[in-house]
Amino acid sequence: MRMWIPFFVVYLCFTQWASSTPWFEEAMVGMEVGPTGAQWGFSSINDERYCSKLDTTEIVRKCHQANCDYVVIWVRDGDYAYYNSKILIKAPGLKDRDPLKEAIEEAKKYNMPVIAYCVVQQGGHYIEQHPEFLMHDLEGKPIYHRFCYNSGYLEVMKQIIDEIMDYGVHGFHIDMIDQGFGPPYGCACPVCKKMFQEQYGLEIPTSITWDDTWKTFLEFRYKSSEQFEKKLYEYIKNRDPRVSVDFNYHGNPPFSFEVGQRPVQHGKNGDFITGETGIWGFSALTVGLNAEFYRSAVPHQRVQVAIQRGVRMYHDQTTRPLNDIRWELLTLFAHGSFVTMVDKLGFDGTLDPVAYTRIGKAFQEIHEKKPFFYHKPVYEVGIYFSSKTRDWVAREIPSTYFASFQGTHKAMVYEHIPWGILLDENCTYEKLAQFPLVILPNVGILSSEEITIFTQYVHHGGNLLITGLTGCYDDLGNIGIYNLEQLTGCKFVSKLDSEDNWISLEPTQSKEEEQLSKEIEHAHINEKDYKNSDTMPVLVRGPAGIFEPTSAKAVGKLWKPYRTQRQIEGKEGTDLPMSPETVVGPAIFINQVGKGMVLTWTCSPDYALGSEYALPECRKLLVNTVRYLNPNPDIQISAPTCVETIVLHKPENNGYYVHCIAYPSPPQTIPMRNRPYVLPSLIEDTPCFYLTITTLNPIQSATANNKTTQIEKISNTKIKAFITELHEIITLKQ
Ligand SMILES: [Zn+2]
Repeated sequence: MRMWIPFFVVYLCFTQWASSTPWFEEAMVGMEVGPTGAQWGFSSINDERYCSKLDTTEIVRKCHQANCDYVVIWVRDGDYAYYNSKILIKAPGLKDRDPLKEAIEEAKKYNMPVIAYCVVQQGGHYIEQHPEFLMHDLEGKPIYHRFCYNSGYLEVMKQIIDEIMDYGVHGFHIDMIDQGFGPPYGCACPVCKKMFQEQYGLEIPTSITWDDTWKTFLEFRYKSSEQFEKKLYEYIKNRDPRVSVDFNYHGNPPFSFEVGQRPVQHGKNGDFITGETGIWGFSALTVGLNAEFYRSAVPHQRVQVAIQRGVRMYHDQTTRPLNDIRWELLTLFAHGSFVTMVDKLGFDGTLDPVAYTRIGKAFQEIHEKKPFFYHKPVYEVGIYFSSKTRDWVAREIPSTYFASFQGTHKAMVYEHIPWGILLDENCTYEKLAQFPLVILPNVGILSSEEITIFTQYVHHGGNLLITGLTGCYDDLGNIGIYNLEQLTGCKFVSKLDSEDNWISLEPTQSKEEEQLSKEIEHAHINEKDYKNSDTMPVLVRGPAGIFEPTSAKAVGKLWKPYRTQRQIEGKEGTDLPMSPETVVGPAIFINQVGKGMVLTWTCSPDYALGSEYALPECRKLLVNTVRYLNPNPDIQISAPTCVETIVLHKPENNGYYVHCIAYPSPPQTIPMRNRPYVLPSLIEDTPCFYLTITTLNPIQSATANNKTTQIEKISNTKIKAFITELHEIITLKQ
């Protein structure tokens, strides 16, 4: 942690200042604390109960006791300032008190950095009083709860920043530079219309057109958010370069173009990237995915993730069980993040001391385990993400693309194959070359530049696994092109209209089919059991196409489903899968290119795993193809599907730290709404499980972090562990 030294002292002790490190380069855990009650905006300015008991001195003291390295104090939201402001209304219950001043004074006692939580984009009293800053929809109507980034609002933000900086804060957490989370889309206010006309000589379209003009408009939107971030950053840094700036990030799934952020373009504009995870808005599985996504967006920066202490959402005054908190925290740290725990106080500002005791225990564990975090990850598979496909193929239903990306990630986690993320905006040949294998999960749009680096990668010995309709769309998202023939060794003929597609593999036909059908019972039944084919097909829900071989070897069969007469007449939907009818083409193509191999699925086992038909068979299909392409990885792990493993290189580079984190969420009951879409139960228990690790090189020693773990040596290259804790770290020396 860094001392906050006034400038004149810095001048006198230059060496000391030069050697100091910004707080965010070393911080591990902190808390963000603020009241609940004005988060939706437009609250009563006469309600003096709100924040009447807010005591930031006590908050900072409690954060210090809870082992925090820093504290983020709620300073501005859509309704109020939580300090003495000349621009914004102060929260009514505060009266003469100044929570920011009190927080900074108390934090000085512990040399604890104080970061200001500052809202940019939120409905409330300020926007209501300033309609001149409103965002407008495509038809030119005001959107009453959103600011336009080109309206002049930036100048107000600078004045607010000035007021807050005068207190001596150490940084700003800025929440958030979005343009809404769905329609109506903006901004077509008079200022934006004029700017768009001047910059591009075009009118802003009055509806979504998905053509070249819309493409220009999307660029204009992205640029508006980017410029706002950059100008705010520059303004703060010009005033004091020591003050940190981070923006709450929205470039990852489930967010898409509507938010106005691209993964890399809007990830890199602060001192570090900050995003969110949690069951409340994402999923248990994407805790690790989000952390790796952020890491890939800004490889040169640290990654911060915000999580909540409440059992359901940020704004409830409940506290998760300790094991539930530990699971999320440890997952994020194993994936290289540092973490802010968000605590929303009561309406009157009261805090719950039990929460701080519990969080303090979890934070202490993180500090104790520091030597095992932040090492270079071992990556076997690179999962490729395409912002172009997100925007132009999936368009307004981004989940139709994300299902493939997320399904691939799910398969890798369940099968304990070390994975990392590659992003189309910043991918290079050098980045690809770090992975023995790269998966392109339904990456509909691929530019010629991308195809060139993939070709280079495969020629030099890299392996590509391609699924579904990858490369079948032009850059406006229209299906029909295919520029991958040289790589895949097949031609694209047409897209299947159905998503309930099936595949069959016949192990007796070839060694490839035998290997790819491993552990898939349907491929190994007696051929007499299914009269229309040699084997019973498996449902692989998702996009599929008919392809023909040119140079590749064709393997397996792709089936299209039956359609009832009523379905053909459009009187019945096709949401429920219908059984397989006829073979329409091969299921897989295998093509040797230079020193590498390209394996193409004509259907989408990746999408299936992100859908409601996530058959374990689909996971085996995907994983068997990974093992076919990369048969001898450095490390292979076998463990239950509810255990996530993250492999890090030991710093001396002669072995591994294997983090094993269980997710023992117990069964859930019937939900009160949206049956059967349940929220997972909270984690209370510590599980027990076996785990085996097999390595390519001999293991010199294997040790566990917990005394209760038993490790058995099976061979020179294989160990078996019996673990009775939520989190274990196995250290392998080689
Ligand atoms: Zn505008």
